[in-house]
Amino acid sequence: MVRGEDETDILIVGGGLMGCAAAYYLARAGAEVLLVERGDLNTQASGATGGSLHAQIPTEEFHAHGEDWGRAFLPVLRLMTAGVEAWQGLSAEIGIDLEVETPGGLVVAETEEEMAWLARKAAMERGFGIETEMLDRAELRDLAPYLAEHAIGASFCKGEGKANALLAAPALAQAAERHGARIRRGVEATAIARETGAYRVETNARPIRCARLLNAAGTGARRLGRMVGIDLPVRGYPIHMNVTEPTAPLVRHLVYSAAGRLTIKQAANGTILIGGGWPAGIDPKTGFPVVLRDSIQANLWLAMRAVPALAGLQVVRTWAGFVNGTEDWRPILGEAPGLPGYFVAAFPWFGFTAGPLSGRLMADLILGRDPGFDLASFAPGGPNA
Ligand SMILES: Cc1cc2nc3c(=O)[nH]c(=O)nc-3n(C[C@H](O)[C@H](O)[C@H](O)COP(=O)(O)OP(=O)(O)OC[C@H]3O[C@@H](n4cnc5c(N)ncnc54)[C@H](O)[C@@H]3O)c2cc1C
Repeated sequence: MVRGEDETDILIVGGGLMGCAAAYYLARAGAEVLLVERGDLNTQASGATGGSLHAQIPTEEFHAHGEDWGRAFLPVLRLMTAGVEAWQGLSAEIGIDLEVETPGGLVVAETEEEMAWLARKAAMERGFGIETEMLDRAELRDLAPYLAEHAIGASFCKGEGKANALLAAPALAQAAERHGARIRRGVEATAIARETGAYRVETNARPIRCARLLNAAGTGARRLGRMVGIDLPVRGYPIHMNVTEPTAPLVRHLVYSAAGRLTIKQAANGTILIGGGWPAGIDPKTGFPVVLRDSIQANLWLAMRAVPALAGLQVVRTWAGFVNGTEDWRPILGEAPGLPGYFVAAFPWFGFTAGPLSGRLMADLILGRDPGFDLASFAPGGPNA
């Protein structure tokens, strides 16, 4: 080690759910891990997230692009369904209740036309081995009496649900520390140089030398890729969320609408989280994401249309965050060709659902173990790819 340098076997850049999960699985396997986070843990997408666990073909995209899109999405969907499974048992394993519940997801329809395309989507999902069924009006009322009378039916995807996003990444970070990982907040990776068998990472604090590096920088992944000459097609898209005051148990399921962007679910503390990916803006002065009045209004209108009792509740907070997205909706998971030891873990749009699983898969890849999934098609491109 050069004087003044820090050294580790594996350096993780990014303290969101992805980085914290990878740190946990690596440290649990006995690896030497240092995680650096430029701000505080869980303050970007993983803390801003709605915390839904999704296991179906994204509704809006299916409606817009049809069966071919759904089929092309299957490899990603496989990771998401396995991702939901990976949440089960995690609380017990790390000794912290992450409030994981999987009562299923309902996409509510108001018209026969919506029922028809939801039925096509449900059939496709069943073909993929996902338990989705169509419910008529009576079955829907029976299962979810809190939904509006004008709902004429729904698709019901078993196994979908939620977890507490404010708890998950910090809890995994704590568990990683218990297994010996080091975590440094306020440390930003600013440049990376390749050296024989190692990477030297410049930071706003001491430089760090590592044998292997995991880029888990969320929307910062592209910048971190450029530091080693690779272009990762990850961008930050600003979207917003709303939360109501707490109320008695009301919304049992994860609720979507066939009519537009919507997710509704009730947290363990009784508050109701309302989202669905409505766009937010970007403050031109600070570059921070900011909520847009039109988006909030449209989002809440759809929510009250689906669950009328929401109209009696106060929204106590709205917030915006950058979600890490890729144009093709595919994650980037693997070692960069031509850059031995440089790994990327970027799961777009549904990185909360897939976070713990992806962290485990990355730990396996980094340690040279079989991850049990064929991840070859998700590998990042190499330098100048
Ligand atoms: C409003 C919103 C709602 C969402 N809802 C859902 C949902 O319901 N279900 C779902 O599955 N997904 C959802 N998502 C997506 C999901 O939250 C993200 O895909 C996931 O959290 C990404 O995790 P991450 O760890 O990769 O990134 P992040 O949580 O963004 O973490 C990356 C971290 O890297 C740090 N970093 C970046 N560059 C550097 C650097 N150079 N040096 C040091 N640190 C650096 C950042 O500060 C950040 O903390 C939502 C996202 C948003 C914004």
